[in-house]
Amino acid sequence: MTATTKIANPRDIAHNVMKLISELNLQPTPQVYHVFYSYFAEEVPELNQLVKVLIRNTQDLDEETVYRIYHKYLGSHAMDKHLKLGVEGLQAAVERVEEAVHSVMLETDQFCGELDNASRQLLADDITLDDARHVSRNLSATTDRARNCYGDFNGSLEEYHNEVRRVRTELEMVRRDALTDTLTGIANRKNFDTSLRDAVTTTMESGAPLSLLMIDIDYFKDFNDNFGHRAGDGVLKAVARVLVSSTKGADTVARYGGEEFAIILPDTTRENAEKLANKLRENVSNQRIINKKTGKDFGRLTVSIGLTSYHLGENILEFVDRADGALYQAKQDGRNTCVLQ
Ligand code: GH3
Ligand code: MG
Ligand code: MG
Repeated sequence: MTATTKIANPRDIAHNVMKLISELNLQPTPQVYHVFYSYFAEEVPELNQLVKVLIRNTQDLDEETVYRIYHKYLGSHAMDKHLKLGVEGLQAAVERVEEAVHSVMLETDQFCGELDNASRQLLADDITLDDARHVSRNLSATTDRARNCYGDFNGSLEEYHNEVRRVRTELEMVRRDALTDTLTGIANRKNFDTSLRDAVTTTMESGAPLSLLMIDIDYFKDFNDNFGHRAGDGVLKAVARVLVSSTKGADTVARYGGEEFAIILPDTTRENAEKLANKLRENVSNQRIINKKTGKDFGRLTVSIGLTSYHLGENILEFVDRADGALYQAKQDGRNTCVLQ
């Protein structure tokens, strides 16, 4: 796929976005999706120009490049602009609907008045055939005018609905964006904090078990120092992918900060959380880190994991601190291990 002809239908856009993401072998994170959505919807000319060139030369279109494009053209600043435009568009549509409602009301008043008038004339005792024809012609013209007016009104309503749909989609994107870590595409720290609060509340209501994992990459500084920060970023994305693919839908996998991840496990006992933690540890250490472009093999990485389960009624900070303490202990114990507290 090389160039685009403008696709107006959001469903067609979505179809093309997913097709292109799959052809480019990229992860469909919200940011990647947003960049290509914007491309097919032709929202930002500069972005289209750049993506068009990069698509011709696909080896340059890796996730990192797409994230850079996202930040440059669609990131929070650009998003503010989008939102502002969305709200302005909505206001303009509301004003147009108000005008249309007003003119429909005027037209209806006039239409009713003319109908009354016509019926009075038709019921008059001395009406002639010519008079009746004249009334009928007038009525027909009045009906045409009213029909046009209602047609315009329907058009304005449809435009208004489209605008509402567009703004709703933009708001959803902004909301998702605010909760997503831009590098890895998983939940960010803010999302983690909210999800943990919700999970603790649910557990206090239901009494169901709740477990928490804190996961930290071992000797990551050395990796960065040896292979560079960009390669380090690639590893963070790869680890995030392993964590997501090893967990299930109800779990929240988040980037807690730097090279540290956290996983909230609702409805999960300590024993099951421990099994999962060890599986995660193995899944990460089984991954060979290979540069997609150059084929260079960076070897293997390991993670240390701290695990704890929620004690009913305790403060969230105590809960998180205990998981942190367990992680610290895992590091002390020599790394590539999981400690329960
Ligand atoms: P330990 O086994 O004790 O965890 O050692 P470590 O080297 O992993 O831990 P340390 O806290 O000394 O170093 C963490 C490193 O993570 C340092 C920092 O450069 C790197 N880092 C944090 N955030 C990012 C990021 O977003 N991208 C990259 N590439 N590196 C990051
Ligand atoms: Mg570390
Ligand atoms: Mg750390």
